[in-house]
Amino acid sequence: MRYQLRDEQGATHSVAYLMLAAAPVVFVTGILLPDEHPWPWVIAISLTCTFMAAVGAMALRRPGWIPRLWWLAAPFVAIAIIAGMNYASHDASAGAQLFYLWPVLYAANFLSHRMAALVLALISAGHAAVAFSTLTTAKALSDWISVTVALSLTSFVVTSLRNRNDRLRHVLESQALADPLTGVGNRRSFDDELTRAVTWARRGGEPLALISVDIDYFKKINDTYGHGVGDQAIQVVANALRVIARREQDVVARLGGDEFVVLLRTDRANAGRAADEVRVVLDAVEGLPCGPPGLSIGIAVLPDHASTADELRAASDAALYEAKQNGRGRTAMARPPAPRQAANRPTGVRAGG
Ligand code: GH3
Ligand code: MG
Repeated sequence: MRYQLRDEQGATHSVAYLMLAAAPVVFVTGILLPDEHPWPWVIAISLTCTFMAAVGAMALRRPGWIPRLWWLAAPFVAIAIIAGMNYASHDASAGAQLFYLWPVLYAANFLSHRMAALVLALISAGHAAVAFSTLTTAKALSDWISVTVALSLTSFVVTSLRNRNDRLRHVLESQALADPLTGVGNRRSFDDELTRAVTWARRGGEPLALISVDIDYFKKINDTYGHGVGDQAIQVVANALRVIARREQDVVARLGGDEFVVLLRTDRANAGRAADEVRVVLDAVEGLPCGPPGLSIGIAVLPDHASTADELRAASDAALYEAKQNGRGRTAMARPPAPRQAANRPTGVRAGG
């Protein structure tokens, strides 16, 4: 949808509460309070109340039954009802105009800026029709200008607050998903990315490689050169891993300490080449007091070594462990699971280079 409904749940509640509150108000002010009750008016008000109560109840209890287009149309329907009733009852009083606040607030909160502007323009036109047909020209003009300006300012304030909230939420979301030291993803973002990537791979029958990376003898770097140099080494490794994560969907994350993962939508041969490339990139790094840090790397590929996210993690971890056990500074590829265990879990690794 081009109009971009933001916060569908908020919009649903807003419509539900407005309609459920407005139906009895309209009934009381439209039918019970007036002295005269012409039949066409009573029928029109009764139908309007029934429509509002029905839409309100549905928005509250069964929002899924309502077509999506309704969430765009709602403020325009509200404007038509408010302007129509004010026009029919020749009511240009301030109280009658207050009802326009709902479509203004709804559009400013939930719809695009363009839609919010359109809502304001229609309200202004609707109120002009009522004011100029009810009041003297001078009074109508001043009333029309006041209502238009007041509602425009309201819309402007709400839109500004909404933009500010959007920016703050964006900053908080990026901070919650990034590792502060390196700027790559953190464990939380990796968990989400892995789930998404595994779903993608299984649906399309595509390979997905999980590369686990751990710096060798990192404690020694910290102990010998200090924590600052240790931090630099971590950053250098993160940058080298970024080099192999070229495509938009490729993911680099730091799981904690000196442990990283790279998720590539590729097969085992390319994953092996990517691991080699990391070492080449890292060996070319200059200016690090401890020299380029050594890496142990484990690779597992879905569907070759695993069929679920957990299995892929376990297989990649096992391969990394094997690389450590075999002397560090090397890459190990997970072995395909044995046939009778294939459906349950991956096993074993074979050392690679
Ligand atoms: P191995 O070869 O078996 O991996 O040994 P290692 O010395 O690298 O051991 P390990 O991976 O367990 O070391 C992790 C160390 O990383 C322990 C911790 O003090 C250090 N560390 C964790 N987070 C940070 C950090 O943000 N900065 C620095 N400089 N050090 C960190
Ligand atoms: Mg380590």
